[in-house]
Amino acid sequence: MQKDDCIFCKIAAKKIPSKAVYEDDEIVAFEDINPQAPVHIVVISKNHIEKLSDLAEKDSQLAGRMVMAAKNIAKENGIQESGYRIVMNCNKDGGQAVFHLHLHLLGGRAMKWPPG
Ligand code: AMP
Ligand code: ZN
Repeated sequence: MQKDDCIFCKIAAKKIPSKAVYEDDEIVAFEDINPQAPVHIVVISKNHIEKLSDLAEKDSQLAGRMVMAAKNIAKENGIQESGYRIVMNCNKDGGQAVFHLHLHLLGGRAMKWPPG
């Protein structure tokens, strides 16, 4: 279930390269091309789901696995103790630019609150 003109579907299918840090049957994680923090990893679903608001009850396990992957990647990157943030942008006001489900793992510096 992939969309031909979707950049993250192309990354999941390895049609365009990424610096992958994790992959399993349902998700892929890779370095963000425009990092906003010393550690900035994008965790995506392999299936094309446009956005958080499209998640269905049946996707609960997928969403949980994305969070667990972020947690594990944070530990591997040595930011577990210093701290980190995970972010899912949804639609215009959320600042979503790529309409394929993903979360951001950000760390390696102090995050501000409230976010911009
Ligand atoms: P969002 O605003 O939540 O939709 O974030 C999309 C993220 O994808 C941005 O942080 C981009 O820098 C990142 N991104 C876009 N294209 C690529 C790519 N080809 N490889 C890695 N990251 C990308
Ligand atoms: Zn897609």
